[in-house]
Amino acid sequence: MSFLLNCPNCGTREVTDFGFAGEVSTRPTGTPTPRELHTYIYFRRNVAGVQREWWCHRSGCHAWFLAERDTRTNEVLWTALPADAPAEGWASV
Ligand SMILES: [Zn+2]
Repeated sequence: MSFLLNCPNCGTREVTDFGFAGEVSTRPTGTPTPRELHTYIYFRRNVAGVQREWWCHRSGCHAWFLAERDTRTNEVLWTALPADAPAEGWASV
């Protein structure tokens, strides 16, 4: 399934221009236990719904940016450079 994604620098392009780097996860604070570290590295929520993700414009400007995408429909709600992204939980379903 193909869809469009908006690079914050270059504008809207086919998703094949981009590299998907997974959902955004929260890094453990302090000194994590081995279990916390294992969970952070290997486990993902993999939601059926809206999730925040990392993307890279690998066929364009090579910028890393964030997107919120509905994994059920591939509707992209927004994209932004990390410094410009809305606070977490902005549009969770
Ligand atoms: Zn770009």
